[in-house]
Amino acid sequence: MSANGYEKLELFIDGEFRQGSEGKTEDVVNPADESVLGELPHASKTDLDEALAAADRMFPVWRDTPAVQRAQVLNRAGQLMRERMDSIARTMTMEQGKVLNEARLEVGVSAEICEWYAGESMRAYGRIIPGRTANSRGMVLKEPVGPVAALTPWNFPAYTPMRKISAALAAGCSVVIKASEETPGTCVAIARVFQDAGLPDGVLNLVFGVPAEVSEYLIPHPAIRKISFTGSVPVGKLLSSMAGEHMKRATMELGGHSPVIVFDDADTEKVVKMVIGGKFRNAGQVCISPTRFYVQENKYGEFVNRFTEMAEAMNVTNGLEEGADMGPLANPRRLDAMSGFVADAREHGADVRTGGERIGNQGFFFQPTVMADVPEDARIMNEEPFGPVVPVTTFKEFDEVIERANKLEFGLASYAFTSDDNKATALANKLESGMVGVNSLAISLPEAPFGGIKDSGHGSEGGIEGLEAYQNTKFVQHWAA
Ligand code: NAD
Repeated sequence: MSANGYEKLELFIDGEFRQGSEGKTEDVVNPADESVLGELPHASKTDLDEALAAADRMFPVWRDTPAVQRAQVLNRAGQLMRERMDSIARTMTMEQGKVLNEARLEVGVSAEICEWYAGESMRAYGRIIPGRTANSRGMVLKEPVGPVAALTPWNFPAYTPMRKISAALAAGCSVVIKASEETPGTCVAIARVFQDAGLPDGVLNLVFGVPAEVSEYLIPHPAIRKISFTGSVPVGKLLSSMAGEHMKRATMELGGHSPVIVFDDADTEKVVKMVIGGKFRNAGQVCISPTRFYVQENKYGEFVNRFTEMAEAMNVTNGLEEGADMGPLANPRRLDAMSGFVADAREHGADVRTGGERIGNQGFFFQPTVMADVPEDARIMNEEPFGPVVPVTTFKEFDEVIERANKLEFGLASYAFTSDDNKATALANKLESGMVGVNSLAISLPEAPFGGIKDSGHGSEGGIEGLEAYQNTKFVQHWAA
């Protein structure tokens, strides 16, 4: 731990926390004040080779460790995450910007994921298929796929690495993870948790570097059997094609642009209170963030007014401060993107009801922004906003809004609010996305599958599907000799 309470930045290779062998580093910047938090070591080719060799060597050892012992390590890791919640959350807020309460929640949920997969590791059931003769039977076995290359982004520095690491370890896989270079401290803390929980050296390895160079090295490497990536659609397509070229299994958790449909029969006040927290959580930098609001005619005015009032009441400041509702954006790229979306929407005739500007000139703060009457051809209705800017528009009919909700190539999450259960069932059937929240935004749970369709990716994390992502299926036909 550094003097400022920020995690000490190191690589974790074959059980050893250390600097890169060639001494290359990059600055990690606090998005709240642009100060430098620490120097992040980059892994050289030699370091990557050592991480890969360790994962390769330890895969059979970990695979053959009884599931009950693997579960003990995962349970201890979950417990250590909880014990270290304050320090890990502080590191996360400093490097990523989200408010401390959200960071603490994220550490808590990460612990829960780890514990959930501890239990699931003991339920990697196959099945018996009745034989075609009296003295035979078939067996379906679930086996770990092999060493995994995991690549994670900057918006959920604990949750996303933990979902990949814990499911892979539960299945019996070893891991080389490249976490985000912009928010590395949290993942370093997670690696320390696993070491202290008794994970054998070399089963988990953590590296950093230039993202494209590291992924180009890890994905084709013969030791790696599975790729798991979370990030943007363009990068996902690139990595997916690389994985395909080398016949590697891949899970792709990519971007989204979630429609939120609010029907006249919903309770507007209740809906606004629920979605305001969901929308501005992590300053909107969430792949399942509610991002395109379609409000039915009779409730449109009331909805926009209440949403605007509540957005204006938000306290936007350094996430470490008491009473902060929203922190800065994670990096200056998001500031530029938000200004671009607002300018474009204005040009298309949108009514900016509140916000629309950067706050101050030090730190990457942006106003919570609500825009009404945003036409479908504005950029923000078609490109993932990934920030605290809310476009709202209206609709008349059920079929019309379903068509508008399904029109994009994204298919990650959709939300709808209605008090009519028949409508709710029809919505769940017709919305084209991997996850649908009806009268709820709570669609990301340790026990439930999380993943997208269309351009939002393929494969699921979470739930039993999240374990299967790291397993091969083997059929054994057994005839009595
Ligand atoms: P980006 O597309 O440059 O990078 C997205 C992530 O991929 C980053 O973590 C980056 O380090 C990594 N990356 C980039 N090129 C890579 C490569 N060749 N190999 C491996 N990793 C690579 O964009 P950005 O500016 O960091 O983020 C902006 C956009 O990314 C957002 O608009 C959003 O769509 C998307 N994003 C999605 C998620 C998610 O949870 N699905 C998370 C973060 C960012």
